[in-house]
Amino acid sequence: MKKGIIEISGVRFPLYSLNTLIIGSGAAALNAAVNLFEYGQKDVAIATENWGGGTSNNAGSDKQTYYKLSLSGGVTDSPLEMARDLFSGGCMHGDIALCEAQNSAQAFFHLVSLGVPFPHDRFGAYVGYKTDHDPRGRATSAGPLTSRMMFECLAKDIKKKGIQVFDGHDIIALLTDKRNGGKYVIGALAIDKDNLDPESLGFVVFNAVNVILGTGGPAGMYKSSVYPESQLGSSGLAFEIGAFGNNLTESQYGLASIKFRWNLSGTYQQVIPRYVSTDKDGQDEQEFLNHYFPDMGKLATAVFLKGYQWPFDPRKVRDYGSSLIDILVYQETVMKGRRVFLDFTRNPPSGGILEDFSFDMLDKEASVYLEKSGALFGTPIERLKKMNQPAIDLYMNNGINLAEDYLEIGVCAQHNNGGLKGNIWWESNIKHLFPAGEVNGTHGVYRPGGSALNSGQVGSMRAALYISKRYTETPPEPERFLAAAQDQVKDKFEQARQMIKPPAGENHILHKAREDIQERMSSSGAHIRHPEKIKEAIKEAWSLYSRLKKESKVASSEELPDAFKNLDLCLTHALYLEAIGEYLEKGGKSRGSYLVVDSNGDKPCEALGDEWKFSLNQEDAPVNQKILEIHLDEKSVVKKQWVDVKPVPQDEAWFENIWNEYMQEKIVK
Ligand SMILES: Cc1cc2nc3c(=O)[nH]c(=O)nc-3n(C[C@H](O)[C@H](O)[C@H](O)COP(=O)(O)OP(=O)(O)OC[C@H]3O[C@@H](n4cnc5c(N)ncnc54)[C@H](O)[C@@H]3O)c2cc1C
Repeated sequence: MKKGIIEISGVRFPLYSLNTLIIGSGAAALNAAVNLFEYGQKDVAIATENWGGGTSNNAGSDKQTYYKLSLSGGVTDSPLEMARDLFSGGCMHGDIALCEAQNSAQAFFHLVSLGVPFPHDRFGAYVGYKTDHDPRGRATSAGPLTSRMMFECLAKDIKKKGIQVFDGHDIIALLTDKRNGGKYVIGALAIDKDNLDPESLGFVVFNAVNVILGTGGPAGMYKSSVYPESQLGSSGLAFEIGAFGNNLTESQYGLASIKFRWNLSGTYQQVIPRYVSTDKDGQDEQEFLNHYFPDMGKLATAVFLKGYQWPFDPRKVRDYGSSLIDILVYQETVMKGRRVFLDFTRNPPSGGILEDFSFDMLDKEASVYLEKSGALFGTPIERLKKMNQPAIDLYMNNGINLAEDYLEIGVCAQHNNGGLKGNIWWESNIKHLFPAGEVNGTHGVYRPGGSALNSGQVGSMRAALYISKRYTETPPEPERFLAAAQDQVKDKFEQARQMIKPPAGENHILHKAREDIQERMSSSGAHIRHPEKIKEAIKEAWSLYSRLKKESKVASSEELPDAFKNLDLCLTHALYLEAIGEYLEKGGKSRGSYLVVDSNGDKPCEALGDEWKFSLNQEDAPVNQKILEIHLDEKSVVKKQWVDVKPVPQDEAWFENIWNEYMQEKIVK
């Protein structure tokens, strides 16, 4: 990497020239850097807004899952079978599914070799278990903090390899050029938050042949969120330069605690806590679930099942299914403005027509599970102590004593199934730009639990391989780079100057805009969707975006990164809402992890009002046959297209032929 100084409009900025810039420091970004280095491309650096921030290092769950090919004992499996299972979730391209399956063992053992403590038996078998949407027990876990352990092992290796990290650098723009009619990325622009000098405002310019975008899910656009606070996302960087998004309608939502953000899956639900709602001040306690279930057995079984049916799923609403609970929590919190808590100190009590909880009321599945776990006794906290003491410790370490305190909850955004579009090397339609990890929307409607972590590792490894074979050039000399990048840097710098001169007064738009985005997304673009509300939401989103472009003001340069983040999130949420609007317009109904209100459908349960009527997509619904792509064209006009879902490739590879192609370097292309 070469360091220089460039001057634009009389202002001097640091310029770094290198082969590949990796943006972000989550598990996907770090794996990209490690793999590039191992494949021989050492002219790389990482720019991250906050080393240690992001989802990988700060989120987890009861048993955080990593999905991979089955690798133990007599369990039969094959990459093709795994690809078919990934593909069968709907609206996932088959070639991508095959890559994720085919490379899963390699990516997994790479982590093992770096020290991630995935458990194995004495014969060396990495034994698996079944996760959701998984027919073969392909899941494994290193505990509640699997992704943190991945981050830690990868981070250690980054240090060992001496890869340069630009910490505290918020990337605010990707720089592009055109060649042969196509657009390609040529670098990026950052604000160095530790060097916000009044002249350059902290601007740093990267001249890079390739950019790997590992910025994670666009978490910052939701109000109700179980993403860690440090994760906001930056998909807008890519949308702004015309990158395609796909499946933006598909995200995952579920029940989580909100003071300390954590998924309430697994044993937290299997011990059957009491759900209670209160008014805003914590008064007027109500056993709100009791009014919607016909008997206590059904209520308690639905709570139990939430443990391993964690994401909200409209197919699991009817017949007093586990996802009815999410609807009832949403009704209390969002529609009635009350608060909902889990109480682990008492079993669900009588109320309405329901009697007190007792174990003999449970469905067989639940009672057998609790019996086998030696937990058919006592209160929820006593059962949790018996089944999973670390689950209690985790909250204790975060200031919440489940043996005494109520745990406040909500239905929260947790994962981005859709996102930026990439090819089988994770390269976007903008050449040399590789979105990897959660920012890349490889998944379809349903995905097996744990496939996000697999996808992030496989994708970053594939991008690294491609770059190390095909895009090995040294970066252009500063003069040539500037000829293409100068105006783009100038525009952003001018925008920053306008934000700061004159500085904003007290009640400026910065915080209000973030709240607006989050409010709109959680009410119109999350797990409950209203066809009649969406058009207005889209209009408001674009109107805020144009206001932000013109009127964003900050009190000082310290606020510049937040102002650019608002622009990014605002553009991102506008495109996500556009995708939802298009899906509803085409007659799309409930699927995946969201319910579409439909007055011609049925109510989720008898006691809920007509406003809750909904229906599921028919299997052969047009929206299930194609993938919705969306992007901004050269004039920033939104373009949408429905493309065919590519099938899983069935090539019969013949060894001698592949060997020949491989020796002639014809594989990676
Ligand atoms: C509660 C919870 C539980 C989960 N459980 C599972 C599970 O069991 N199994 C599973 O497979 N997945 C799970 N996931 C999802 C999975 O953890 C994430 O998809 C994955 O960790 C994302 O990794 P990433 O590297 O893509 O992004 P992240 O780890 O989010 O990293 C993004 C990085 O980009 C940086 N960044 C963002 N914007 C910029 C910018 N403009 N400039 C510089 N840096 C930037 C951030 O600071 C961060 O370092 C869970 C997620 C949550 C929230």
